[in-house]
Amino acid sequence: MKCIYCGNRETRVADKRDIKDSTRRRRECTKCRKRFTTYEAPESVNITIVKKDSRREPYQREKLTKGIRIACQKRPISADRIEKIVADVENSIKERKSNEIPSQMVGELVMKKLKSTDKVAYIRFASVYRSFEDINEFEKEVRALKK
Ligand SMILES: [Zn+2]
Repeated sequence: MKCIYCGNRETRVADKRDIKDSTRRRRECTKCRKRFTTYEAPESVNITIVKKDSRREPYQREKLTKGIRIACQKRPISADRIEKIVADVENSIKERKSNEIPSQMVGELVMKKLKSTDKVAYIRFASVYRSFEDINEFEKEVRALKK
C-alpha cells in the first residue's frame, strides 16, 4: 500500500479492525511516519434492480436479507440458512446475462427458495412482495400450497 502523503511504497499496519462487512486498517508509512486509514470490503454484486415504475436502483444485499429475515421471524430458520438463501438468489441473478433484473423477478426467486424452506415464511414474503390484489388471490395461493 502506497503512502498517501509521500508515495513511499512501504507501510506497516498499526491497527486492524473488522467493522461489519469491511476491514479497517490504520497504516503507518515507514518513511514519513504519517498515518492513514484504509478500508477493505468484498466486491459487491453489481446488479441493478428495475422497479415496477421502471426506476432503477443498485441491488443491496442488506435490503434483501432484511426482507427475508422479516418473513422468517419466529420460524425455525437459522441466520445461516437465510444467508444461504440470499447467496443462492444472488447466484441465480449472476447467471443471467444482464446486470439488470426486474424487482419482481428477484421476488420470485426468493419465493421459490422460501417455498421449499418454510411455508409460513413463504406466505409472509409473498403477501408483502406481491401485495395481493384481494383476499381471494391470497387464499388461492394458500390453497395451492396445501396441495
Ligand atoms: Zn509516507
